[in-house]
Amino acid sequence: MLNYTEKEVANRKALVINPAKTCQPVGAMYAALGVHGCLPHSHGSQGCCAFHRMFLTRHFKDPAMAASSSFTEGASVFGGGSNLKTAVKNIFDLYDPEIIAVHTTCLSETIGDDLNALITDMTIPEGKYVVHCNTPSYKGSHVDGFTNMVSGFIRYLAKKGPETNEKVCLLPGFVNPGDMREYRRIMNLMKVPFIMLPDTSGVMDTPMTGKFEMYPKGGTLINDIKDVGNCMATIALGLKVSEPSAAVLEKQCDIPYQALPLPIGIEATDKFVMALQDISKDEVPYALEEERGQLVDIMVDIHPYTFGKKVAIYGDPDTVLGIASFALELGMIPKYVLTGTPGAAFEERARELFEKFGMEGCMAKEAGDLYLLHQWIKNEKVDLLIGGTHGKFIARAEDIPFVRMGFPIIDRYVHSYMPLVGYKGAMRMAELVSNALLDYRDRTCEEKDMEMVL
Ligand code: SF4
Repeated sequence: MLNYTEKEVANRKALVINPAKTCQPVGAMYAALGVHGCLPHSHGSQGCCAFHRMFLTRHFKDPAMAASSSFTEGASVFGGGSNLKTAVKNIFDLYDPEIIAVHTTCLSETIGDDLNALITDMTIPEGKYVVHCNTPSYKGSHVDGFTNMVSGFIRYLAKKGPETNEKVCLLPGFVNPGDMREYRRIMNLMKVPFIMLPDTSGVMDTPMTGKFEMYPKGGTLINDIKDVGNCMATIALGLKVSEPSAAVLEKQCDIPYQALPLPIGIEATDKFVMALQDISKDEVPYALEEERGQLVDIMVDIHPYTFGKKVAIYGDPDTVLGIASFALELGMIPKYVLTGTPGAAFEERARELFEKFGMEGCMAKEAGDLYLLHQWIKNEKVDLLIGGTHGKFIARAEDIPFVRMGFPIIDRYVHSYMPLVGYKGAMRMAELVSNALLDYRDRTCEEKDMEMVL
């Protein structure tokens, strides 16, 4: 790979090389899988749907069920309306879901199919539902697709009744099923009744039973989605991914919301726990206090190895900022933070974080790609790389220790069962980071025939 100057790198506008993102429908499909009895439906050609399912299956190692409008040349010319009508009838006849969640693709967006009108004109069986969201993939990323699908469920289903249900609507953000289980554990410990939308635990992390379940046990119930209209408040985790959906619910059902960063690391988890305490008015249980204390103890233990180490972090905006924040808490320098997802707020939030910790010379980029990150690293090397699978080529080329966190991780296992959020998630991150740094130290000692330190 050539070594370009920063100016040359900044001037590259027309071409993306190794994008740190994927297309909107991947996120929409993932969000739809987090609703119980839901069959996601890709309104486009079969290839799109196959790609999105494959992408999710490779990360979660569980089947991602979805249907397609199966566009051919005819639909490209005359529109996909009749394909969608036939698809919805066939899906209810053959696969009997409770709800179909339709998302669009590049082709149907380019044709200009009016999904609102098409769905209104359809015959939908009694007690069943069809919802939709627009996910034009030539803008945004899978993160926006996830947001759009969650907002779509709210728009179609959430209704305000005369009485509050005294619950909190929890919007979890684009996180793994392991994170959603951790949210649930924390909410229960804090004794805050809630509805989480969506909830992919029990869907994308199912146990092996030897029997195929088209609609696994997990997922947010349709009645619960209707009932989010009666919640007393919303907690939106992830300023990029969840806040827009919280705003939709506020507008539609007059439910106030609090948007927080993903609870990754000490401070962000503290904020989440304090927000819950504000609602419960109860003491924070000792179980959580103890975990926090254990985490601080671990951070002190590994501090000699993490302090002053430069790290490059890439992936989804809320996840990257969460990991960067924890890296700063570990005394590390988040030299480069990069997301492929467009949105100027990412760079602003990163700069605020750098300023808060007195960091100078750190760089942040929204709508960036891994080629750019590689160029930055060539110009000034880092001690650690954190992100999804595709960064492993940079790590190998530059001989940098590498920790896989975020989405997608397609060449490792178990990650989707383990949380990054909460104090427990931070403990796991501390373990991964310190192990990677110490493994690298041991390996370089071996290569240089130096005595290994224990
Ligand atoms: S055509 Fe568009 S929607 Fe389909 S896979 Fe490609 S980017 Fe995604």
